[in-house]
Amino acid sequence: MALYANVVIDISIQKLDRTFQYRVPKEMMQSIAPGMCVQVPFGKGDILKKAYVLELTNEATYDESKLKCISAILTDEVAIENHLISLAAWMRKYYGGTMNQALKTVLPIKSKVKENQQKTIHLKMRQDEALHFLKEFKRKHQNAKARLLEALIENPTLPQEFLTQKLNISGQTIRSFETKNYIEIETSRVYRDPIQAFGDLPMAKPFVLNEQQQKIVDEFVADYKRQEFKTYLIHGVTGSGKTEVYMGMIDEVLANGRQVIVLIPEIALTYQTVMRFYRRYGKKVSILNSKMSAGERYDQYERAKAGEVSLIIGPRSALFIPFQNLGLIVIDEEHESSYKSETVPRYHARETAIARAKMVGGSVVLGSATPSVESYYLAKTGQYKLFELTMRAKNQPLPQTRIVDLREELKKGNKHIFSDDLQQAIAQRLKRHEQTILFLNRRGMVGFVSCRSCGEIIKCPHCDVSLSQHNNGKLICHYCGYTIPMVKKCPVCSSPYIGGFKAGTQKIEEEIKRLYPQARVLRMDADTTRKKHDYEKILSAFSNEEADILIGTQMIVKGHDFPKVTLVGVIAADLSLGVSDYRAGERTFQLLVQAVGRAGRGEAPGEAIIQTYQPEHYSILAAAQQDYTAYYEKEIGYRILMDYPPASNLLFVLVTSKNEALAQAEITRMYRAVINSKIEGLGVIGPAEPSVAKINDVYRKVLYLKHEDLDFLVKIKDALEKLTKQDVQYKNIMIQYDFNPMNF
Ligand code: ADP
Ligand code: ZN
Ligand code: ZN
Repeated sequence: MALYANVVIDISIQKLDRTFQYRVPKEMMQSIAPGMCVQVPFGKGDILKKAYVLELTNEATYDESKLKCISAILTDEVAIENHLISLAAWMRKYYGGTMNQALKTVLPIKSKVKENQQKTIHLKMRQDEALHFLKEFKRKHQNAKARLLEALIENPTLPQEFLTQKLNISGQTIRSFETKNYIEIETSRVYRDPIQAFGDLPMAKPFVLNEQQQKIVDEFVADYKRQEFKTYLIHGVTGSGKTEVYMGMIDEVLANGRQVIVLIPEIALTYQTVMRFYRRYGKKVSILNSKMSAGERYDQYERAKAGEVSLIIGPRSALFIPFQNLGLIVIDEEHESSYKSETVPRYHARETAIARAKMVGGSVVLGSATPSVESYYLAKTGQYKLFELTMRAKNQPLPQTRIVDLREELKKGNKHIFSDDLQQAIAQRLKRHEQTILFLNRRGMVGFVSCRSCGEIIKCPHCDVSLSQHNNGKLICHYCGYTIPMVKKCPVCSSPYIGGFKAGTQKIEEEIKRLYPQARVLRMDADTTRKKHDYEKILSAFSNEEADILIGTQMIVKGHDFPKVTLVGVIAADLSLGVSDYRAGERTFQLLVQAVGRAGRGEAPGEAIIQTYQPEHYSILAAAQQDYTAYYEKEIGYRILMDYPPASNLLFVLVTSKNEALAQAEITRMYRAVINSKIEGLGVIGPAEPSVAKINDVYRKVLYLKHEDLDFLVKIKDALEKLTKQDVQYKNIMIQYDFNPMNF
């Protein structure tokens, strides 16, 4: 019977985003399989192109006589696992982009990397023969040969590396033994192991779980045994022992012979975290991160496929590890924005993990001290199962938190970055030899304008996000394009103290050194962490109490455990509150809770001081009280009122072009098309310029669409894709879609 392959051509032209059919020649019928990389003649000149086989079929969908043949199977390329092809198709549908881009995403390692091999030497003679030869070598002063034979008499099987490196025996000597048939050399593959370097650490026994922890594990295990695979959300306060709970769940899954993926934000993938898993699961564990070489990463994929490891820890992209029998995906710190991809397809690891787990019959566990509003909403409405950990594992109290009103400081005449309260608290810590963290929750561009007398942030009246100051001095809304001239006086209190917000980690460091010349200070930000190990170095120096004060941006608050820290100072909570994004309040709450949670994890109780111009803002109040529920109730009210996710869904359309007029024309065309279709319940915002209106001379235009129903927005995206493909200028513009974007 004839066999045909439907393939996707490896080409980045949006217009060719469809499958093409080829005939499978007889000699390939046995070896070809879906997911394989092949070579096919393509286009007018039958140029050979790479392609991925999506499916094999006995039915020709095109005129059979015109079908061309596959030229070759490319065995040097990595094949895609079957269910990952379905996952790619799902991603293409829900996040836009081409099938080729989706396939590339589920296949982070494209080409095979040369294997590392190990040679083992086996002695092939009897003991008495060997002793005889040894005597001969010694008599003739053939020292290298004698050394080699002596070693093999003691241990008849040895790695070649040991002989060449430890005993200093040349390859030539070894080969001469082989030609004489004294020995046999066996070649075998060894995988590069990124955590081998940690050596043989003692295994750690699991903790006896506390009552809350145990209950969660028990419920999970009961569901799992009944093969009820669900998505769970663990909301646990900082230090409540979530990791220990994950491990309890992982135990059950591994005991069933299934595999586990643990996703954590790259920045939290430190030695400390990996060690915890390694000491519990030993050699079954491996990791992935962006600093590993291509060879190391390729080998982890191979080890996962071969069943050599059954637990992989890594950032977002580790989601696509080709486990054969995946049973659980854990996503720690699930609220982190790094789980959303910034390149096409702009997938969210949470949603994609759930899609993959559904395909293979597995569970997903999300965990956070500050769950994303989306996840908590889905848990509250019954789509996820909600678990709560309300106490710290070792029963330490949560830190005492105070809010300091910076407007009052200004009235008192203190124009410093530090309030009197914070200054005193730092001095006290220095005296007591306890550590302090000073946190600057700056994030991305700080373009907003606020009043230092009353705290007012200048916002768009239509979108309720802050306006950004442009180079031309104007204030602009990046959602809808609303523009006003720069304000000279505060519209609320008429104070002239209005302007952009300026304070950097460097400035804070200078101030600290001026105020406390004796203090030992470390600073962690983008500038001080350029090199490979800078980040770990600063963390371990602080951990070893080589410094009294650590100053830093959000990098310093991600899950680290510094038992000697008893004070956390937030310099200006407003910094993340002013970002022009409907998630500004959520991000602020999350950052503050995480920051405050760094204090008092050891024996001495902790204290936190939050400085702000808006002490009455619900994100700040709730963070100070570590009260997630209070925060969530306020936030969901705002989302419902403004029709923002999760109350609604957002589709963000980005058009880019070197030619500004073309980009403008295309976005206008799309805008008109949606307006003219008069769809009920569809919100259309824009077109406008995004916060970065031009990158490398490429102009950017955006349009936002809002609708309650996500699948409906997906259909609109499909229709817009169709519409834009008919444009003759299509080649000179790029169109990207992003559902419920995280950073913009
Ligand atoms: P989270 O991830 O929720 O912030 P961790 O999992 O890091 O919390 O746990 C916080 C600390 O409590 C860790 O040092 C951990 O080893 C310890 N811990 C967790 N569970 C227990 C337990 N049942 N008994 C004793 N210590 C525990
Ligand atoms: Zn004011
Ligand atoms: Zn607006």
